[in-house]
Amino acid sequence: MNQKKRILVTGGAGFLGSQLCEMLVARGDDVICIDNFFTSQKVNVSHLLDKPNFELIRHDVIVPIWLEVDQIYNLACPASPGHYQFNPIKTIKTSVMGAINVLGLAKRCNARVLQASTSEVYGDPEVHPQTENYRGSVNPIGPRACYDEGKRAAETLFMEYHRMNKVDIRIVRIFNTYGPGMHPFDGRVVSNFIRQALANEPLTLFGDGSQTRSFCYRDDLLYAMVSMMENETGFIGPVNIGNPNEFTIRELAELVIALTGSSSSIVEGVLPKDDPVRRQPDIRLARERLHWEPKVELREGLQKTIDWFKTIDLDQYHPPTPNF
Ligand code: NAD
Ligand code: UDP
Repeated sequence: MNQKKRILVTGGAGFLGSQLCEMLVARGDDVICIDNFFTSQKVNVSHLLDKPNFELIRHDVIVPIWLEVDQIYNLACPASPGHYQFNPIKTIKTSVMGAINVLGLAKRCNARVLQASTSEVYGDPEVHPQTENYRGSVNPIGPRACYDEGKRAAETLFMEYHRMNKVDIRIVRIFNTYGPGMHPFDGRVVSNFIRQALANEPLTLFGDGSQTRSFCYRDDLLYAMVSMMENETGFIGPVNIGNPNEFTIRELAELVIALTGSSSSIVEGVLPKDDPVRRQPDIRLARERLHWEPKVELREGLQKTIDWFKTIDLDQYHPPTPNF
């Protein structure tokens, strides 16, 4: 019989964190969500507040916290370029000091701790598709470095706490994930295009749209993340989690217009500095070790996301930063 666990989710009010909390609460575990609400709002988890096995704490992960838990999912970090570039020093502090604090907590409690790492550790990759043993090509002084290097340093900390202190760790490298619950003003490509298409406004293509991404539906990602946390075979990662189907950003724009039936045009703008040219996960390791693969194709996932965007009141959401 499964033992009920005490689980901490940092960044638990965010896009992925709030859905993860919902899954864990539904499973019957005792869930503590901590968040400083930088890129999220309380409403994302307000439906969980009256559950006896859910607790919400406003807290910033750069400050240590004293709790007793069995598992920690470390998701706290702004994730979209516009958010993480708003206050780059705070972003790297969140990654590095947040990692040190959850690892210290895990060490004291003998808890298992999972790091939500990212495909950005590969930077603008020279190896395609990206395998876990590729060491990446990150510009350490560019505008994406606060996020990329912060996440790389966090992986280093996870590995060293594991090697030195035997902390039970897991590292997942998440590739572009989308779905219902995304912040409509996070500036990411899927949310931007859907919001623009539903308003019949031009879709803002950065560059000529020939750069590629591989988009993973939220639920596929979360199943893999939980499966990694629960894995008892000694496999700690890092493991790529993403959908290997690769699309150009122009193809994405055209698909969003088709699915929404929008009259939007597509306008080309400036490509941001250091924007990765190609990105596609090699997921052989996840297939072998987690027996996992994504099930939701882009068309189906986009339709679910579009349907959700149609239900929300945009006036209830505020751009977290003036970057947009
Ligand atoms: P999100 O911005 O919706 O969620 C991040 C959450 O962390 C927010 O609720 C935010 O308020 C909180 N947070 C930020 N700084 C904090 C701090 N200092 N203290 C406490 N809370 C803080 O983003 P998301 O898409 O849900 O991403 C969750 C995690 O997954 C992040 O660590 C991100 O780097 C990682 N990730 C996401 C993707 C993706 O495509 N969604 C891809 C790669 C990695
Ligand atoms: N992008 C775009 N228009 C937008 C937002 C993003 O063309 O309105 C592009 C962006 O330049 C990048 C891709 O879409 O090439 C994915 O951007 P996103 O910010 O979603 O994620 P990341 O660059 O971190 O993968």
